[in-house]
Amino acid sequence: MIWNPWSLPKHIIFTWSILNESLNTKAKLKRLGICDEAVCCLCAQDEETQLHLFSRCTISKMVFAEINKRLKMNIPQENSLNWGLSRRGTKMQRGIQMMVIMAGMYHIWYLRSKTRLEGMLERSEIIATRVLKEIRSRIQARIKFPLAIKDQKWYDDRFLP
Ligand SMILES: [Zn+2]
Repeated sequence: MIWNPWSLPKHIIFTWSILNESLNTKAKLKRLGICDEAVCCLCAQDEETQLHLFSRCTISKMVFAEINKRLKMNIPQENSLNWGLSRRGTKMQRGIQMMVIMAGMYHIWYLRSKTRLEGMLERSEIIATRVLKEIRSRIQARIKFPLAIKDQKWYDDRFLP
């Protein structure tokens, strides 16, 4: 389901790096002797590991909360990929939900890297807007109407202006 037709290639590749534990988090850089401290770029409260960034960090939690609010979803911060994979619903709903999870993680990492370089943290509303813009354009490019009634209602609830 990571390789589903809704997901953007850059999000799939990024998710693949997460699953392979190959992101250069500060904890990893410190271990390699490249960085002398490992505190999270976003919350500055804990060691920046993948687990922290995507499951525990208060800033990433705020980003997912904002995405959930806008899309009437209830993606958990912890274990979101597994949650997405075990979802029920139609193929379209599961595919789009998975796309949202992957896009959220991608943009959290982007935010983290930007914050590391620039030392300024953007608000979670801005990140959510960025995620939604990408998702909407992907959906517009891929969706084929007419939809099944179940899918149409689900889609209207979330993506109609
Ligand atoms: Zn953090």
